[in-house]
Amino acid sequence: MSNDSKSRLAALGRKVLPFHAAGEEPGRYGVLRRNMTLLMILLTVVPLSLMAVINHREHRKALRAQTEAPMREILVRTRHSGEIFLAERRSAISFITSASTYEQLADQAELNRIFQVMKQEFGGFVDVGLIDATGVQVSYAGPFELVGKDYRDQEWFQEVLVRGPYVSDVFLGYRRYPHFVIAVRHLEPDGRSWIVRATVDTELFSSLIGSHGNVPGGDTFVVSRQGVLQTPSRYYGAVLGRVPLDIKDAGLEPLITETADPTGRPSFLGMAAFETVPLVLLCVEPRGMAWQPWYTLNNELFLVFIASIAVVFFVAYRLASSSVNRIEKSEENQRRALHEMEHGNKLASIGRLAAGVAHEINNPLAIIDQKAGLMMDLTENIPGFHLGPRFGELAASILNAVDRCRTITHRLLGFARRMDVEIRDLDVNDVLQEVLGFLEREAQHRSVAIQLELDAELPSIASDRGQLQQVFLNILNNALEAMAEGGKVVIRSWRPNEEHVSVSIEDNGSGMSQDTLKHLFEPFFTTKAPGYGTGLGLSITYGIVKKLGGEIQVDSELGKGTTFVVSLPRHASPAMGT
Ligand code: ADP
Ligand code: MG
Repeated sequence: MSNDSKSRLAALGRKVLPFHAAGEEPGRYGVLRRNMTLLMILLTVVPLSLMAVINHREHRKALRAQTEAPMREILVRTRHSGEIFLAERRSAISFITSASTYEQLADQAELNRIFQVMKQEFGGFVDVGLIDATGVQVSYAGPFELVGKDYRDQEWFQEVLVRGPYVSDVFLGYRRYPHFVIAVRHLEPDGRSWIVRATVDTELFSSLIGSHGNVPGGDTFVVSRQGVLQTPSRYYGAVLGRVPLDIKDAGLEPLITETADPTGRPSFLGMAAFETVPLVLLCVEPRGMAWQPWYTLNNELFLVFIASIAVVFFVAYRLASSSVNRIEKSEENQRRALHEMEHGNKLASIGRLAAGVAHEINNPLAIIDQKAGLMMDLTENIPGFHLGPRFGELAASILNAVDRCRTITHRLLGFARRMDVEIRDLDVNDVLQEVLGFLEREAQHRSVAIQLELDAELPSIASDRGQLQQVFLNILNNALEAMAEGGKVVIRSWRPNEEHVSVSIEDNGSGMSQDTLKHLFEPFFTTKAPGYGTGLGLSITYGIVKKLGGEIQVDSELGKGTTFVVSLPRHASPAMGT
């Protein structure tokens, strides 16, 4: 049936009952829909996530490399400056030690002069003094009174004797400010030896080291091998404090690791050991500073990622839904077609059977008819036969019954026979009017009102007039029979589309139960009392409509009424038939 007549039916205000209610497993399509959605999501989200993760890691790696390169540069440059600072001062002391004689150095005035030159040429010297081989301070230029002091047991003195030029760790001296000591020993060819010892203020060294940490928030400082601060640190405190960092691995090649600074911020730690002194240069740079743009980008990418996932979910769901709906629909159509075919086959075989039976019965009927007629003639022709009129009556009722039987067998044959279709141009409205002509008396008798809503513009169609009359007659007959006194029948005709013409016949009679609807078009199906209905009307009607290439649809509600809709093609295709 066409969609238009369906919607027309819906417009009539009743629910359309499909001819065959399809058996349905409701969960199957839901599961299919869910699985398809999940599969599609999996197929898109997994690669998307993988890409996001890989991108994240690669970007991070590149950024790390980008952060490390300048840090390495700072470490190498700063260490170089530090080494030069120390080497300059050590060379100065070495030069003084070797270029002057013991007597010159022991002379207080001469030492004072040398000290003045040292202070002028190299910043940071606090004092200088001569110590003889036994460890006693011979002369001294500086702010303290140290002449005569004995250094024999001091660690630095022992170191100088054994290892030569010596640079001490930073310590707080008598004046309580951080400084370190440079000591150089001179050995004369005659075996005499002496030591020149100078103290250097760390301030200059500290500012030299600190000035290289040029990153905002960065921190550059020097610690001893024991982890004691030699220059002040922004994050780890003042000189001589202890740094809780593991510097065991520090070597000449700068090493950069990721740690957290004392405030817990993630940061990079770079370290490089000095070559000539047992010191380690450290450089700390908070990660957040360098990586701020990365974090921003990351957040944006994350938002894009989430948005894409949302879109994927939406699209996957819609796609899965629409495909499953399509599958559902096509399966439903297939099922319907199968049902209809089954139904057609059933009608055809029952029809053949009925035709056979009707044919077989027709012969004995003809004999009964003939004999009963003969009997009637005979009784009339026997003069004085007192039972004559009685026999005549009996024979007449036999003939009557035979007539009824013949009508039935005739209809049966009509149902079964592939009646030749005679296609002519005709106006469906005319056919309806003709049929109503037959029924007018019956309708009046039952006081049923017949209302016509015919489309005056209805185009003519090419179809079989006689068979269409039978179709409408059958439907209208049923409608009249379904109604008590005073019912109403509405007959409409309209054009659902260019290719079809539709007719609906609506009654407000008894209506039908679901069970009746199911068997409605089967031959011999009747709910009427024996003698009132043959159950052939609608099966014949169904066969004719199909044969003419049309559709018949029924909509009925028990106690309310019934509507039949017949849709006919503008050009009947007589190919179909039961
Ligand atoms: P019959 O009229 O001989 O019973 P049909 O094939 O014409 O056989 O109809 C089959 C059955 O369908 C009827 O017995 C009746 O129960 C039902 N039926 C058909 N048309 C209507 C209708 N308009 N209203 C109610 N029931 C109907
Ligand atoms: Mg009938």
